[in-house]
Order: sequence, then C-alpha cells, then structure tokens
Amino acid sequence: MIAEFIPYAYLLAAVLFILGLRQLGSPKTASRGNLTAAVGMLIAIVATLVDQGIVSYGVIVGGMVVGAAVGAVLATRIQMTAMPQMVALLNGFGGAASALVASAEWLGYLRDGAEPIGYVPLAIVLGVLIGAITFTGSLIAFAKLQELMRGAPLTYPGQQVVNALLGAGTLVLAGVLVFAPLQPEVFAGLVLLSALMGVLLVIPIGGADMPVVISLLNSYSGLAACATGFVLGNSGLVISGSLVGASGIILTKIMCNAMNRSLANVLFGAFGAVDESAPAAGGEDQRTAKGYTPEDAAIIFGNSRSCIIVPGYGMAVAQAQHAVRELADVLEKKGIAVKFAIHPVAGRMPGHMNVLLAEADVSYERLVEMDEINPEFSETDVALVIGANDVVNPDARTAKGSPIYGMPILDVDRAGHVFVVKRSMNPGFAGVQNPLFFLDNTMMVFGDAKGVAHAIAEAVQELI
Ligand code: NDP
Repeated sequence: MIAEFIPYAYLLAAVLFILGLRQLGSPKTASRGNLTAAVGMLIAIVATLVDQGIVSYGVIVGGMVVGAAVGAVLATRIQMTAMPQMVALLNGFGGAASALVASAEWLGYLRDGAEPIGYVPLAIVLGVLIGAITFTGSLIAFAKLQELMRGAPLTYPGQQVVNALLGAGTLVLAGVLVFAPLQPEVFAGLVLLSALMGVLLVIPIGGADMPVVISLLNSYSGLAACATGFVLGNSGLVISGSLVGASGIILTKIMCNAMNRSLANVLFGAFGAVDESAPAAGGEDQRTAKGYTPEDAAIIFGNSRSCIIVPGYGMAVAQAQHAVRELADVLEKKGIAVKFAIHPVAGRMPGHMNVLLAEADVSYERLVEMDEINPEFSETDVALVIGANDVVNPDARTAKGSPIYGMPILDVDRAGHVFVVKRSMNPGFAGVQNPLFFLDNTMMVFGDAKGVAHAIAEAVQELI
C-alpha cells in the first residue's frame, strides 16, 4: 500500500528540488530555496526509508548519525575562505558514495551469479567510473586548496599523451564490462584506472583555478548519482542526480565566461604555471603608485556625494566585511550615497562577495551586478576598491597578450577618484600587474583591508 505512494513522493521531491533551485537563483529568495530543497530531500529520504527493500535500519541509522556528526563539526569549524575545499570534499564523498553503491550492486550480481541485463551494466560502469574520478579528483582539489600539496600546476613532458592513453584504457575496460559484467579483474582494473584518472586530470590544474574544477566535479558527482539511480531503479536519485549534473555544468560555464576562459583552457591550460621566459609579475614595474593615508581618503570623501564600494578576494582574506559595512554606514550618515558593485568572479568562489556581505548584514538592495553598475562609475565621485585586483584591471579591455584580456571588468577607473585598499603592489590571482594603480585619479591606501576600512571610517567621522 505504502509502496504505491513512493513514486509520487519522489515526484513531489523533484518538484521541490526544481523550485528550490529556481529560488536559489536570487540572493533575496536563496535561503527560502535552501529550505524548499531541504524539504524535498526530507520527503525523498522518508520515501526511501519506507521502501520494502530495506535490509537493515540499524546500519542506516548508524550511518546517518556518524555522517551527520562529522558534517556538523566540519560545517561549524570551517572558515568562509575555506569553503571551496569544503565543497570539494563533499563532492568527493558524493562521488565515492555513488561508486560504492554501484559496486555493491555489482557484487550482489556476482554473488548470485546472475548477469545484470538491459541498461544496468552500463549504469553500473558509469556509476563506478564517474564516481571514482570525482572522488580522487576532489581529494586532489581539496589537498591543493588546503595547501597539503603544492597549488601550482604539476606538469611533466608527455602529460597529455599519458592522460589520453589512460582515458583510452579506461574506456576499453568500461566497454568490456558493459558486455560481460561479471569479471572481477576487469572490474578492479576499472576502479583503479578511474581513480588514477581523477588524480592525473586534476594535478595539472593550478590551485587558483580549482573553484571552476570543483564546480565541474560537482556536476560529475551528480552524474554519478544519476547513473547509480538507474542501477537501483530509483527515480528520486535519477532526478536529483541529473539536476546536480546540469546545474554544476551551467555554473562551470558561467564561471568560465566571467573569466573569459574556455573550459578546455581551465582543464588543460596549466594557468598559473611559472613561465620562465615571462617577466616577473609585479614588483618590476618602473612606474610608481602613490600611497595615501586614510585621512587623505576622508578629505576626498568630504567633497563627495556618491561612492561605489568594490570588494574582492582581499576582503575575504582580511575578513573585512563587517568593517566595510560599518564604513558604508558612516559614509551614508555623512550624506554620501553608497552602493556595492559585485563582479561575478570576485573572490574565489561563485557568490563569494554576496555571502560575505550578507554575513555582515548588507542588504541585497545595495548590491549591484556588474552590467548594471558599470554605466554608473563615470557619474560617481569615489570608487573604493577593497582587496580587488583582477576584476578592476583595465588591461582586460586593451592588452591583447594579457591572460585576463577579454575578461569583463568593473569600470572603476572611470570614477572621479579611485581608492585601492591592498597591502602591497603584489598582483592578484592572474599574476599580472594592474595599470589602475598608476592612474592620476587613483590613490593607493596600503594596509590590511580590515584595518584600513576601520581607519577610513574613523577619519570620516572625525573630519567630515
Ligand atoms: P585578486 O585575486 O585579483 O586580487 C586580490 C587582491 O587582494 C590581491 O592583489 C591582494 O593584494 C589583496 N589582498 C589579499 N589579502 C589582503 C588583505 N588582507 N587586505 C587587503 N588586501 C588584500 O581578486 P579579485 O577578487 O579582484 O579577482 C578574483 C580573481 O580570482 C579573478 O582573476 C578570477 O578570475 C579568479 N577566480 C575567481 C573564482 C570565483 O569563483 N570567484 C574562481 C577561480 C578564479 P596584496 O597582496 O597586495 O594585499
């Protein structure tokens, strides 16, 4: 009787997942979206638990308790700046879970001596192959971001040939298993080669490109879950896996577009590798940038009516979001209109700036996306750049040889005055110097973003 309702429960869960994803598309509705999708997941879990095929509730409850405890500890301890590696780990565990479930089903067929039929062998092979690649690839991404291994691209001569041969070998084993599934040696070979492929595909990618790779691995973890859904004949898993697969690949595409890079360039370009023939990044520039104090900045603010704050990765490093919010409040009290400009790839993960500013209670109405705010810079008195670099580099418009050429940027150089708050003349993620720092209307205020934001707020309080 209950079993008849299970497909409807999965259908309802799928509808809630899709609604949740839709709501996650805007910061205003995102937390509701999270809740909607979580309710969908609860329904899917309950439907699965009442399924007749359950072998042991004890094992399930044990797994849930251990998993929830580990997850809760990790989630509460993790720093905001370490969120990308946390997501990498979660993707990796998702991939491992899919590979394990598909392998367990395969073992069941082997034990019973009954060949799986129809699409099941293909689904088992895909679940194991994609799941294992996701697991080991995500562990490498985690290790690079957590600085457990060198973040720089790890390259060696003939790397792409080795990867191509490995890929071909894996595909041959996968093909053999689809047609003759119950061969333990071939199955073990497939698991090993897939796991090795995950490692070798991710080591040549630079640590700073990892967020794009993580988004791609997130998509893979969804595809692995989807394949496992076919193995188990579970429509809930098929639908949720394909939603994760599709949304992960869309996010990957959006990130590549915002960085003006192709996915192939991210995956095979070894971006950030040291090019011995290239001039050293930063430090070598013959021009001099002018350093100013927070008090100088306050004097300029005294004659200003409008300000656009442009946060970047440095704000995240300094955890300066609260200080920046306080500075914005002080400026507004002094009659200066303040907006925040959000670049799609500012920081090191999608939505990084939105999340930090939301944590500091900056209302969503004050956050303006790049395309909308760019025409406003030329009519704005002050652009205040806090720890951003590449996303405000005017070379992206004109310098054809630059790695960031073609990347859309925030047009801060068109504002009346530009303050750039950072600690030194060091370059950002792309490793290139920024001509913005040498423009006549630019004033560098050197220091840690948090301290400088505080100091400017104090100076504005006192001087204006
Ligand atoms: P950048 O990495 O270009 O620059 C950040 C700047 O912050 C640095 O120049 C650094 O200068 C400064 N900084 C670091 N720590 C501090 C601190 N404590 N106080 C003050 N300043 C500090 O960041 P952007 O946000 O401008 O650009 C993001 C880059 O990351 C882009 O190139 C983007 O393509 C890339 N990227 C983004 C992803 C995303 O999803 N958002 C994913 C992958 C890559 P200094 O050391 O002198 O202080």
